[in-house]
Amino acid sequence: MRASSDAALVLFSGGQDSTVCLAWALERFTRVETIGFDYGQRHAVELAVRPTIRERLAALDPQWRARLGEDHVVRLDALAAISETALTRDVAIEMGANNLPTTFVPGRNLVFLCFAGALAYRRDLKHLVAGMCETDYSGYPDCRDDTIKAMQVALTLGMDRRCVVHTPLMWVDKAGTFALAREIGGENMLDLVIAETHSCYLGERSKRHPWGYGCGDCPACRLRAEGYARFIAEGDRTA
Ligand code: ZN
Repeated sequence: MRASSDAALVLFSGGQDSTVCLAWALERFTRVETIGFDYGQRHAVELAVRPTIRERLAALDPQWRARLGEDHVVRLDALAAISETALTRDVAIEMGANNLPTTFVPGRNLVFLCFAGALAYRRDLKHLVAGMCETDYSGYPDCRDDTIKAMQVALTLGMDRRCVVHTPLMWVDKAGTFALAREIGGENMLDLVIAETHSCYLGERSKRHPWGYGCGDCPACRLRAEGYARFIAEGDRTA
């Protein structure tokens, strides 16, 4: 059976990047399914916001609603069991001796892409869409463009079926991601990204800032806040 050429599976975590990727995919593919991974994250807030984001995206555009298909949540307890990381254990978020932040889960995106590829095969979805980005998280080797391209080749060979991995944010910084959200879906899409997507490593959702909810102090919050500030400044410049 040939994979239908216009169907995609989006790696959708509930974060800012993967939400913009989901909107990007809904613009391009006639059938779009989503996959999320539960790997024992210290705070499951990201997973909890996913259904709301999917519903709000569908409400933005009747065509998007028609295209948005099933959601799949895959438990990957084994990934947490073999990782010592600030995302899955009670470890401080800081730079480790290997020059990588302690939030780094070794090989996480390789594992995610393998599972996504296997599900895409079964669901007859030719395209994978993922939010990896070299621009901001340059410390994460499994976010690099070469890593993703190598995975595309491995998945295509290993399953003997063409698998295309799209990473629309690979060279886009956080300011650019806010701008892309507005470009794809206007002010409503931008509002959705700010209000509903989750980035904070501490799982904080009681404090609202101009850029969204979060503690305001962890690396993910700082990156998001700085990106939003640049986005506003650049918007003013082009206005
Ligand atoms: Zn935070």
